[in-house]
Amino acid sequence: MLSKSNILLIYTGGTIGMMKDFETGALKAFNFKKLLQKIPELKQLECSIETLSFKKPIDSSNMNPNEWIKLATIIEENYTNFDGFVILHGSDTMSYSAAALSFMLENLTKPVVFTGSQLPIGDLRTDAKENLITAIQIASSREKNKPVIQEVCLYFEYKLYRGNRTTKISAEHFNAFASPNFPSLAESGVHLNFNRIEQKKTTKKLLVHKKLDDNVVIIKLFPGINEAVLSSIIDIPNLKAIILETYGSGNAPTEKWFINLLKKGIKKGLYFVNVTQCSGGSVNMGKYETSTELKKLGIISGKDITTEAAITKLMYLLGQNVSPAVFKTIFETSLRGEMQ
Ligand code: ASP
Repeated sequence: MLSKSNILLIYTGGTIGMMKDFETGALKAFNFKKLLQKIPELKQLECSIETLSFKKPIDSSNMNPNEWIKLATIIEENYTNFDGFVILHGSDTMSYSAAALSFMLENLTKPVVFTGSQLPIGDLRTDAKENLITAIQIASSREKNKPVIQEVCLYFEYKLYRGNRTTKISAEHFNAFASPNFPSLAESGVHLNFNRIEQKKTTKKLLVHKKLDDNVVIIKLFPGINEAVLSSIIDIPNLKAIILETYGSGNAPTEKWFINLLKKGIKKGLYFVNVTQCSGGSVNMGKYETSTELKKLGIISGKDITTEAAITKLMYLLGQNVSPAVFKTIFETSLRGEMQ
């Protein structure tokens, strides 16, 4: 007989464990122990669950690289004792955290499933119960005595996505996430159906990378962006990399001042990554005249990466001190299935 899966449920904060402060009306994090009391159904699952909570649960708007390091360390310290990990996290920045953890956890062979909810667990119409129960079921699913999922992913409203392919698309609908450029890994209906998507399998030991460099910025282009604004960003001391959120398939203004500022930044040693503002599709520099100059300048192509994965990949690669000679090649290579 197969032994039961051991799942570690980590509570970082977020709506899923929040309650209304009746004096102010605002949602505040509450004691995690009460979360399990709210879902007695968890006891029916075919797995054993241990729980661990951040000392001070946070709204995910307060997430940052230090919290990601905390999370990665929890997984590292508990890796051999558990078969899978479920991370309860606020939905607002969940896509960033899932992407960051995917880069930090190299050679992962166990599931790390992020989930959360749009309504608090105690709410009558809550989506928290289904998200939590199915996320645990996914984390404990095994085939031939091996976890079905061996990567960082995100489960929300009946769909399991690759973690570094997601983006939050709605502050209203239960269906709050999308993975515009990559199919879902599983769908939950009457049955839990895993889509047979090839996952990078490895026999290597887990490597946990805990150096992240936050000297990065995202600039979303808009018609009217002016020289003074761009110039002051390029002059930020210690800045190492800029994500340019461009139009369509990676297009940007061709005006002289714009190109000259990019040249100035490159001369200073800044990396520029071209990521499209479109939610779906890919950067293809050289397709239009408005991106040929960017290609000539050697701007890094983000291809079909999300902005969330691009910014966390930058923090990770800069933290690894990747040499300038290979930085572009490495960024343009899919490390954890985050790009085509
Ligand atoms: N503001 C909350 C958070 O991201 C929203 C949520 O949990 O969904 O922490």
